[in-house]
Amino acid sequence: MPTEPESTVVTLPEAANKLITPRAPATGRIVRNESCTFGKSNAWVRDVAVDVSGTELAGKFRVGQAFGVIPPGTDENGKPHKVRLYSIASPDSGEDGHGNVMSTPVKRTIDEFDPDIAGHRRAHRGMFMGVCSNYLCDLEIGDEVLVTGPAGKRFLLPVDTERHDYVFVATGTGIAPYRGMVMQLLNGPAGPTRRDVWLLAGAPYTSDLIYHELFLEFDREFENFHYLQAISREPRTPGAKRGIYVDALLVEELDRLGPLLEGPGTLLYLCGVAGMQFGIYRRLATLGLLDGYAAPKSGVCDGSPAEWTNVQMRRGLRATPRCMIEVY
Ligand code: NAP
Repeated sequence: MPTEPESTVVTLPEAANKLITPRAPATGRIVRNESCTFGKSNAWVRDVAVDVSGTELAGKFRVGQAFGVIPPGTDENGKPHKVRLYSIASPDSGEDGHGNVMSTPVKRTIDEFDPDIAGHRRAHRGMFMGVCSNYLCDLEIGDEVLVTGPAGKRFLLPVDTERHDYVFVATGTGIAPYRGMVMQLLNGPAGPTRRDVWLLAGAPYTSDLIYHELFLEFDREFENFHYLQAISREPRTPGAKRGIYVDALLVEELDRLGPLLEGPGTLLYLCGVAGMQFGIYRRLATLGLLDGYAAPKSGVCDGSPAEWTNVQMRRGLRATPRCMIEVY
């Protein structure tokens, strides 16, 4: 039951940015490295926590920002590896309550070069192992790691969290920031929020869901927190070839999500695979709920939303301040 009036104006906090650059990285230390998928999954994802106390990052990072990691060694051109960014999955107070330890879910990149796929650089088939993800996942407690950051100014919780409701949408490792945001909103120093918080998570298989048990626990404990899953490769009904994508959850829960999304202060966050935002836009527009989250340029997205193409939406829709997007 909200106590504060809703606010249509979204004020984001000032977030420290690029305090530590790749030219002069700081040294962090691994304090946790454990699997964070639901059971045994072929998507190996590990929750890696880094202690950054004594560095410029300590007490300065915010949930929703990213930090950088520089893996050791050199690339195929003999140059030092470049920095890779990882989303911070910890609340502002960190894993330790003092902003000294931040965590991130790291998915091992394991793929096959395929000469038939544009962009794959090798002319012959062969395994490809992501340099930084596998380096991080292999680290032991106590190992040192070079870090940079923080980075990001927009994918943040608002200053006045009690004046908004929240719809968080994720696919895959895009769930990262929501772990910290949900922890901050429900378990933060200010006490649990009284606003509504929805988390819609997409994954290929149930076993791939990241931080699933934590979110189930919050869902059981807090009446105003709702956790839904969209499993794309597990059919829900006999005869169906596939499961569902996250945007289908908006329809399934329309009775409750419809009025919430119509609320003038509701914030929508989208994080994960590129293209997911278009499915959400199309679905919201079809349901008459897009207003407030994306502003159409006239003449580009005319006609029935069900027919809008991704190209049209990329050109014709601009996210409003109530819609935060982080997709890759
Ligand atoms: P993943 O485990 O493969 O899961 C992605 C899920 O999204 C799958 O169920 C996939 O379904 C589904 N999907 C694919 N296209 C979709 C669409 N248009 N609309 C809705 N759902 C869709 O994901 P991942 O390997 O973690 O990759 C996630 C992406 O998020 C990466 O590109 C990553 O760079 C990015 N990201 C990560 C972070 C982070 O903090 N780590 C932050 C922001 C973004 P099917 O595969 O069955 O089609």
